[in-house]
Parts: sequence; C-alpha cells; structure tokens
Amino acid sequence: MARRRIAVLGSTGSIGRGVLDVVARLPEAFEVVSLAASTSAALLAEQAARFGARRVAVGADTRGDFGPGVRVLRGPAGLEELAGDPDADLVVNAVVGASGLRPTMAALRAGKLLALANKESLVMAGEIVTRTAREAGGEIVPIDSEHSAIFRSLAAARRGEVTSLVLTASGGALRDVPVERVGDVTVAEVLRHPTWSMGAKVTVDSATLVNKALEVIEARWLFDVPLDRIGIVMHRESVVHSLVRLSDGSFLAHLGEPDMRIPIQYALCYPEPGALDLGSWSPGESRQLSFEDVDPRRYPALGIVLRAAEAGGTAPAAAAAADEVAVEAFIAGRVRFADIARIIEETVSRTPDGPCGSVEDVLEADARAREIARTCAGGAHASRAGGGGSAATPTGAR
Ligand code: MG
Repeated sequence: MARRRIAVLGSTGSIGRGVLDVVARLPEAFEVVSLAASTSAALLAEQAARFGARRVAVGADTRGDFGPGVRVLRGPAGLEELAGDPDADLVVNAVVGASGLRPTMAALRAGKLLALANKESLVMAGEIVTRTAREAGGEIVPIDSEHSAIFRSLAAARRGEVTSLVLTASGGALRDVPVERVGDVTVAEVLRHPTWSMGAKVTVDSATLVNKALEVIEARWLFDVPLDRIGIVMHRESVVHSLVRLSDGSFLAHLGEPDMRIPIQYALCYPEPGALDLGSWSPGESRQLSFEDVDPRRYPALGIVLRAAEAGGTAPAAAAAADEVAVEAFIAGRVRFADIARIIEETVSRTPDGPCGSVEDVLEADARAREIARTCAGGAHASRAGGGGSAATPTGAR
C-alpha cells in the first residue's frame, strides 16, 4: 500500500507530538509532507529535519532555521495553504482554539481526510464545517478521545439503534477540592490533571468542564445528534472513553488506557486498523470503574456554555472565544479561577447575536466576543492579541 502523506498542523503541541510518535513507529505507513506550529521554532525545525517535511508553516513573527529545501510559510494564510496542500492525503488539525477553523475549512474544501483535534472548528461553525465536508467530499475523523470512542461504538451499532450519546468526564484537577474553595484555586493546582497529560488550555478547560461542554457541541455536529440526546457522566478512571445508548436500553462503550496515541493512531490509519498495540490496561487490574452525575455547583461554567449551545447562532463561538481569553488571563495570574465562568457568562450575554452563515461571520463574532471578554477580564491587556482568533497558538492538545 502507498504511504499516506500527512500534514500535521500544531505539530509541537501534545497531540502533534503524539501524532509524530505514532508516525515514527509506522515509517512504512506514513510520509510527513508538512508541519506547522505558531511558536516553538526550534522543536519544529527538529521535527522537520527528522521527518523530512518539505514545507513548514509558522506564526507571522516566528523566526527559525528550518534547513535547506524546506519552504517556510507564515501566518494564518500559511497555515491555510498547508491544510489544502495537494501533496497531503490526510491533514491533522491539532491547532488550539479559533485559529483552527480556517485550516479545517481549507482541508475539507480540498476534499481531504481530516483528523480533527481542534474542537473549536465544530463549536464555532459546526453547520458550515459539516456541510462543506459533505459538499466537497472531505471527511472528518475525530482525534478527541471521547469522540473517537463514540465513532467506533457507532460503527458497532445497527442503523437506527442509537438513542443517545454519553460523554465521560474525569472531572479534572478540582473534582475533590471542597466546593467552597474551587473559586480560589491556584494555577498549579488546576494544571495537575489526575488522568490525562495534555496542554495547559485543555487542562484548565477540564477543571471547569468547559472542555466537556465544547465536546457536547462537537459531538452534536460530528454525529448529527441533537443536543438533548447528548449526556455527560463523571468517570474518574478515564478508562471508559464514552458510551452510546441503544434503543433496547443497553450501552456500547469503548475502554482502554487513557493514552491519546490510541485515538491518534485510529484517525491516522482510518479506515484501516492501526498496527500498533498501545494498550497496557487490562480489565483484571481495574478494581473499580465509577460513574456519577456531575455536580453543577462545582462546575458553573459547564451550564453556561451548554446554554450558549442551546441558544445557537454565534453564541457557542462567543462562549469559546470568551473561554480562550479567560483561561489565558487565569494562567497569566490576572484573574481568579471563579472569574473564568463569570467572563464567559458576561461575554455571551453582551455579545450581540449576528449572522452566522459564513466563516467570516463566525470569525467576526469571535473577534467581537474577544473584545468583550477582555473588558470583562479587566481590560489591562486588551491590545495583546488581535481578533479573529490570533490569540490562540497552534501548539497544544486535547
Ligand atoms: Mg476529550
């Protein structure tokens, strides 16, 4: 079989590094044609040399020596060009945040197989993205572990048999902190995730459960299931990656080690099975698998983002933008943990609902929401990042 030619956007983040780890173990299956990262130029150069990438895309102001014969593209346009690269069969979009939307569209418009870790693409513009995939012949395979689990469970269910989806949530770093203390936890406490090793943004989003709310919206579009048929259950061990409920009341679940390389390999090799056995979990070692309902008092931001999802229009994009601004401010020590939920809530309520028929409309709503969110966060650093998602960096993970 011919080697699959891949482009990895966000190659220096946690997901991107996982992708290259899988690729390195399956050298006969893949050829890396291009890589992109907004910062981390030194690591990107090392990756390009190691995997023989012919093109790299970096942030507009990122400088680095990428060696002879490597074409260097810059800024959002460079990222978009790589996503539509005629030399790539499969595009991995592991860009963090709103900056991932345009590359997603470019890949699907070019009819690519898109291994998607950037959940914001579907949160902000799910209808546009899925319609584009249908019309242009592109296909999305999720890398997000919950969605990969559902994707695989759906393949095992009969047509018409699935009644609802249940996403599992570890509960993040604050699941056992007394509720009255949650608002004042430190950045270090929040970044200590109990089961998954991930980038900073998504680790904070796991502590607020905003990550799970974004995943509900992601699932809604990815699987064309209405929001009221997507539930969340707390599952501390992160072994059951999600469940699908069937019409006879039984469930299908996907279990395994919490290791992102499993969903990564699945997406990279799809529709063929992956050759690597990456699992070290075995049922006999698990003394207990626990499931419990989510305590809404501990996770106020979850309900706020889910209400934005129900409102539809540009509200989910506004919520996601506000979350990016709020998390950045929290990590920088400018706001308290409790302020994240407040900033999202205020931003969604103050962002006027505008048109959302095109990517430009959605990015405009994103830019408006960021301005409002920066004001809500204190405004001290309002000029730090431009609109349209440029505050996000394509370096992270799910
Ligand atoms: Mg996930």
